[in-house]
Amino acid sequence: MMVTTHAAAGLLLAVPVASAAPHLAVPAATGAVLGGVVPDLDLLAGVHRKSLHFPVYYSVLGLLVGVAAAVSPSPVVVAAALFFLAAGLHSVSDWFGAGEELRPWERTSDRAVYLHPRRRWLRPKYVVRYDGAPEDLLLTVGLALPAAVTFDGWLRALVVAGVALAAVYTLFRKRVPEWLGV
Ligand SMILES: [Zn+2]
Repeated sequence: MMVTTHAAAGLLLAVPVASAAPHLAVPAATGAVLGGVVPDLDLLAGVHRKSLHFPVYYSVLGLLVGVAAAVSPSPVVVAAALFFLAAGLHSVSDWFGAGEELRPWERTSDRAVYLHPRRRWLRPKYVVRYDGAPEDLLLTVGLALPAAVTFDGWLRALVVAGVALAAVYTLFRKRVPEWLGV
């Protein structure tokens, strides 16, 4: 799935927090967006879908810090809870996409995301056929809508920019490997 889909899914988790406690909207949204984006930084260094993808550990941490945030809702704890929950959701949902190859529509990779506690790769489920597929864009738009309505100012602008970026990426996705020269 596209990084914008993961960011939008994270933001969806921040929507109820922002509605219940508007003064926590910015820390919740910031933590959520970072949690949606950070796992994919292992595209740049390390092993993609393994080095910064932790389906189990992020999720468990997210639940623990989430409980702490419910007990003592300071901005830092709320941001940390949303970060880990969004990063966990990102890592788990990559399982439902394609493998970690550059041309995922070819389906030659059986590595969707690494399951650290079991020391093995999960096989892709292809519910979303590849990152930048039309259904992926649809997911970004659908998941981002509540956030676009809930947040305002620069946060809303960020959501709109993310959706626009996703649309452009979807349009040109299949040319990306060519442009990268591989
Ligand atoms: Zn990912």
